[in-house]
Amino acid sequence: MYIYIHIPFCCNICSYCDFTKIYYHEKYVDAYLDSLEEEIKKRYKNEVVKSIYIGGGTPTCLNIKSLEKLLKLTLLFNKDKSYEFSVETNVELDIEKAKLLKKYGVNRISVGVESFDNNILKILNRTHKKEDIYNCINMLKKYFNNINIDLIYGVSNDINVVKKDIENALKLNINHISCYSLIIENNTMLKINGFKNIDEDIEYEMYNYIENTLTKNNFIHYEISNYAIRNYESIHNINYWQNNEYYGFGLGAVSYINNIRINNTKNINKYIKGEYEQDRIKENKQIRMENEIMLGFRMLKGINKEIFYNKYNKDIYKIFPIKKLVEENLLIEDDKYIKVNNKYIYILNEILIRLIN
Ligand code: SF4
Repeated sequence: MYIYIHIPFCCNICSYCDFTKIYYHEKYVDAYLDSLEEEIKKRYKNEVVKSIYIGGGTPTCLNIKSLEKLLKLTLLFNKDKSYEFSVETNVELDIEKAKLLKKYGVNRISVGVESFDNNILKILNRTHKKEDIYNCINMLKKYFNNINIDLIYGVSNDINVVKKDIENALKLNINHISCYSLIIENNTMLKINGFKNIDEDIEYEMYNYIENTLTKNNFIHYEISNYAIRNYESIHNINYWQNNEYYGFGLGAVSYINNIRINNTKNINKYIKGEYEQDRIKENKQIRMENEIMLGFRMLKGINKEIFYNKYNKDIYKIFPIKKLVEENLLIEDDKYIKVNNKYIYILNEILIRLIN
């Protein structure tokens, strides 16, 4: 089983963010963690856990006492010997908190770097500066050998910003890099302030630059936005893309168990009162198969045909017009896998529309 835990508190709100988050408020934290414990105890059935992922929000903005209270909750899980345990952090993480994460078995850290360019960081309303990133990663390397950084590209039209960001990211000598293009979501400061998307062709050029440069430097491009040194791919995220089961605990978290998608409430007062669930949707076989391809084709390895058959008792070729897209060279097949042609993964959404409609 795979476990996601959501900590919604942030000390600062970024201009592009549409995640479930609220300003850090000491008075809510304790009650929230109590409620989280109740939710876990009520729903978790002692399954063997292969991965825990604590995300947010900014889990590490909790004070040291609350952070320890949160980490203690993970002792409730029956962990597999080789479990992955990831925690998201901002660059401002201090050494005491890093040591605490290590003490509780965290073995993968994901840092919200976003950019090394101080002007871009300002637009994104991140509070760190370029120098802070080096200090943070150097400190983390003393305790962890599995470090991811998140980068955002396409904030400005200038491809040199991207080139510099990738150059700086490579210098950190870490083993996982996630690169997301900026999406201006509704109800974000960027949207409200009328910030505009950059030219699509320039964004595509940036994407190609990132892919070429990272793959030349021994990173495997294993999902549209994710690159890892071999054997450092995130097993937690691969589980989502394989459309397998997981628990999501906490405000706004989503679980997928027994073909039912459970959406937790996004209302913190309700959550603290123990009214965790907002709704649950039973997914029929057609929806599950569609999800399987929408998620599975995000991975460059693609979809394993035998696994698809064993899961749904259906031949994938008979459900979706795969052959036609193979003829057009949009999809590529071999004995075991069907995958999106690497050249076209950037237009995955258009390929999916053709497969599903
Ligand atoms: S991007 Fe992360 S740190 Fe920034 S406001 Fe959103 S959840 Fe908080």
